Amino acid sequence: MTTGEAPYRILLYYKFVTVEDPEALAREHLAYCKRLGVKGRILIAPEGINGTLSGTVEQTDAYMQMMRHMPLFRDLVFKIDESDKHAFQKIFVRPKKELVTFRLEEDVNPNDLTGTHLSPKDFYEKLQQEDVLVLDGRNNYEYDIGHFRGAIRPEVESTREFPEWIRSNLEQYKDRPVLTYCTGGIRCEKLSGFLLKEGFKEVYQLDGGIVTYGKDPEVQGRLFDGKCYVFDERISVPINRTAEDVVIGHCHHCGKPEDRYVNCANDYCHLQHICCEACEEEHNRFCSKECEEQTMARLEA
Ligand SMILES: [Zn+2]
Ligand SMILES: [Zn+2]
Repeated sequence: MTTGEAPYRILLYYKFVTVEDPEALAREHLAYCKRLGVKGRILIAPEGINGTLSGTVEQTDAYMQMMRHMPLFRDLVFKIDESDKHAFQKIFVRPKKELVTFRLEEDVNPNDLTGTHLSPKDFYEKLQQEDVLVLDGRNNYEYDIGHFRGAIRPEVESTREFPEWIRSNLEQYKDRPVLTYCTGGIRCEKLSGFLLKEGFKEVYQLDGGIVTYGKDPEVQGRLFDGKCYVFDERISVPINRTAEDVVIGHCHHCGKPEDRYVNCANDYCHLQHICCEACEEEHNRFCSKECEEQTMARLEA
């Protein structure tokens, strides 16, 4: 057995690289992950790989070693979080058409065209420059529990809505420097390339995303308000490690400042909503009276 406080780890990684046969690689990869016992979600596309998974320290070490032995993924950068348990229930390895679903007429390959990568420190400095436009590269519900101060909230519920939203909302800003950021960096690789292609002149992206920014010993997550939404069972993670850390979300029921998301207890709803602990208890984790009544009626039937 492993000793120590954090016997598990959560890995996050991506790489844009040409994969000749995504389906075959996905099959092999799934078999390997099952043997190893890691859980999570890995996408493999002709344009590369994107994964997040959890496992014991030994399992994740073995996984990273195996990946670094594959010529395609030799230089893969892993973001590592410690954890006291798995962050996923199952393992999925899926072949996909695109890693970041933009569905463009003419796709953007980040290896050919992408915004300038900025380290956390350079990003922090640029954030404070007066004329910059800070664009959140994530969905509205991710923005709502935490974002960089002054960032634009995109009115999108999924990545594929971005191109259209940018074309109808940011047209007038093409001459201003744009800073983009997302959770781990992958969405910005494509988003910043798209912005350049659309005629934005100066486009920067946060290298390694918000999670890397939060771990940087110098900036310590400064100017990030709230928590960072993540796509695993933790739902959100802290970023700002300074005294400036604030809560910016609001409880769905009582409106108090809160940044924890829960899933509605109604199996036919599962709406993810921000909910304080008191309201979770009072409403039995249902998002609405209707959901509570429906479920009670089903249980009694
Ligand atoms: Zn509440
Ligand atoms: Zn509900």
